[in-house]
Amino acid sequence: MDQLEIPILDLKPQYEQLKETIQAAILRVVESGQFIMGPDVKQFEQEVAQYLGVNHAIGVNSGTDALFISMRSLGVGPGDEVITTPFTFFATAEAISHVGAKPIFVDIDEHTFNINPDLIEERITERTKAILPVHLYGRPAEMDKIMLLAQKYDLKVVEDCAQSFGARYFSAQGNNNLSNAYAGKQTGTIGDVGAYSFFPSKNLGAYGDGGLIATDDDVVAETARMLRVHGAKKKYYNETVGYNSRLDTIQAAILRAKLPHIDTWNNARRKVAQHYNQLFSDVTGIIPPECIEGHVFHQYTLTIKDKRDAVAQHLRQQGIGSMVYYPVPQDKLPIYQGQYPPNPVSDRIANQVLSLPIWPELTFDKQRRVSQTLLCAFE
Ligand SMILES: *Cc1c(COP(=O)(O)O)cnc(C)c1O
Repeated sequence: MDQLEIPILDLKPQYEQLKETIQAAILRVVESGQFIMGPDVKQFEQEVAQYLGVNHAIGVNSGTDALFISMRSLGVGPGDEVITTPFTFFATAEAISHVGAKPIFVDIDEHTFNINPDLIEERITERTKAILPVHLYGRPAEMDKIMLLAQKYDLKVVEDCAQSFGARYFSAQGNNNLSNAYAGKQTGTIGDVGAYSFFPSKNLGAYGDGGLIATDDDVVAETARMLRVHGAKKKYYNETVGYNSRLDTIQAAILRAKLPHIDTWNNARRKVAQHYNQLFSDVTGIIPPECIEGHVFHQYTLTIKDKRDAVAQHLRQQGIGSMVYYPVPQDKLPIYQGQYPPNPVSDRIANQVLSLPIWPELTFDKQRRVSQTLLCAFE
């Protein structure tokens, strides 16, 4: 186990805060004996649908499953192309490959770390079926431009919200005064489908795997519900080859205990990010992330122009955790390598990003320690 003085993530304070509620929730399921699709699953789905402002929320086994079940439900399959970002976790591209489609990687914007919407149109072909933006680090992708393209070319949009639960979209700059139809909407409720993860380290984390599909589309919802239970609407009357991808009832009960607190926790993350930004405001060679409205800071990620790895090593020697999300852009992974034109921005950014410790209860004192240690390494 890591014995770092300040790890990159500490889940204990949140557990301490809700210990009794969470233990009671777990016990409630154990004592009911209803472990598979128990009442807590349906109740969580109703509560989370209301929170997000969507008609349908469908609990599944993981964020990865949420992504590929979403795509299958939208009819994405062999021969189709899906436009996405190379700068993400493998599950995003993997889900596209899983349904038999081909990921098309469009380069990112160096300030937002998200797909650059101005580069999408030139990559749309006859085979393009969908766009799959990722709200990386909790920062909403530029949805108004993406939705305009989707409407123009009749494409589906699946939002990867694994890192953005509770984030709201305003505009690319985060300001609220553009005449924008989507202003204030939850990420995952703008495109056709939103796919969320409840992996323990995510902003809304379970105590094991979990995921969710959110949509307003009745047909997509019905298909997704069927696919998660072996392709059967009625038990033992299977209509298609599906999956065993149910949200576990104990996880649903834990998520129900946590959901009412998510806005408080996300606001606390924003405060942590704002404080870091003050500490790093005048350092040459370090670019702090933009703190736009609606961003929920799943990660606090700096761009360090030079010697990023040496800085990370120094932090570790001083007992401070940090991570590189992600060191290899997806188009450079062995399974996809050599099939795509270059994405120079994501290649460069992969060598420059460093994510620092962040969680809602992280104290200012600890943040000061992180920044002082980092600045030492930097000098
Ligand atoms: C975590 C994550 C996923 C996958 O979620 P799991 O629940 O671990 O399957 C997908 N996309 C992104 C961007 C992620 O960060």
